[in-house]
Amino acid sequence: MPRILDGAAIAAAIKHDVAADVRTLATKGVRPGLAAVLVGNVAASEIYVRNKVQTCAELGLYSDLITPPDTVTTAELLSLVASLNTRDDIDGILVQLPLPKSIDARAVLDAIDPAKDVDGLHPVNAGRLQSGRPALAPCTPAGVIEILKRCALPIAGQHAVVVGRSDIVGKPAAMLLLNQNATVTICHSKTRDLPSITRQADILVAAIGRPGFVTPEMVKPGATLIDVGINRLTTREEFDRFFLGNEKREAAFAKRGSVIVGDIHPKAFELAGAYTPVPGGVGLLTIAMLMVNTVHAAKMRRGL
Ligand code: NAP
Repeated sequence: MPRILDGAAIAAAIKHDVAADVRTLATKGVRPGLAAVLVGNVAASEIYVRNKVQTCAELGLYSDLITPPDTVTTAELLSLVASLNTRDDIDGILVQLPLPKSIDARAVLDAIDPAKDVDGLHPVNAGRLQSGRPALAPCTPAGVIEILKRCALPIAGQHAVVVGRSDIVGKPAAMLLLNQNATVTICHSKTRDLPSITRQADILVAAIGRPGFVTPEMVKPGATLIDVGINRLTTREEFDRFFLGNEKREAAFAKRGSVIVGDIHPKAFELAGAYTPVPGGVGLLTIAMLMVNTVHAAKMRRGL
């Protein structure tokens, strides 16, 4: 039977460690602080940011939620970021994406002080990560590494294949794996004969954004499968393609009218040595790693 890598348990363990760190910092008069900038009224973003702010409260971090209207200009956001950069009570600045189309998102992200860039998206942090220097790494790929480490799955010397090369997931995941001495192959939409490459993977990371894209034929038996994908299925036809006869999923579909599937086909998990389920896997690590990054930034800024 493949081992299920339980994202909820790992996230809880990380949060437990962060809370302990926060208590130690409190004895030194330091309370890590996160500023969350949420522009407009995108429902999904509101939920994500609310969860982030709530987790700060649970773990003893300070948080400041700033909610400019979607009519905000790039210049106004740049000025907001500049003021957050100088605030001593703020260690981490999070600008929730996506921003409205009218905003120059790249300019806003690049304006964040790299020392407070807890989403790890600033080019300085990307460069530091690439050159193996201490960096604030993007939260989701950092979570991937944390899963492998906390589950004592070997990384060094393993062939890790990452499918997807986005700046937020694929590329930093590949860099983090490389920094842990994996042999890394990065694949993308122009890769030729993808299955022949994914079948070589000891660790296969899927960050594609296509439901069930990685099929059993693409997997080496016994591999560790890390599924970063989050895809919502809303039609009966889509549901049946993946979960026909699955009573638990059927109940969820009947209740909510949708279910989530990853980028790896559920049938492929049956071949794995270990895998992260969707939901309940990598997705649960992202907020925990944001808390880790915020505490890390608080310590770094004070030379602790
Ligand atoms: P993205 O920016 O759309 O990147 C997708 C990547 O997949 C691209 O590099 C693309 O290649 C590659 N790709 C697309 N079709 C392909 C194909 N047929 N064969 C091989 N590669 C292909 O997506 P993302 O932001 O990285 O997100 C990926 C997935 O992770 C999504 O499902 C997203 O919802 C999920 N996600 C989860 C979390 C979390 O757990 N908290 C966080 C972020 C993202 P090209 O570069 O050649 O176009």
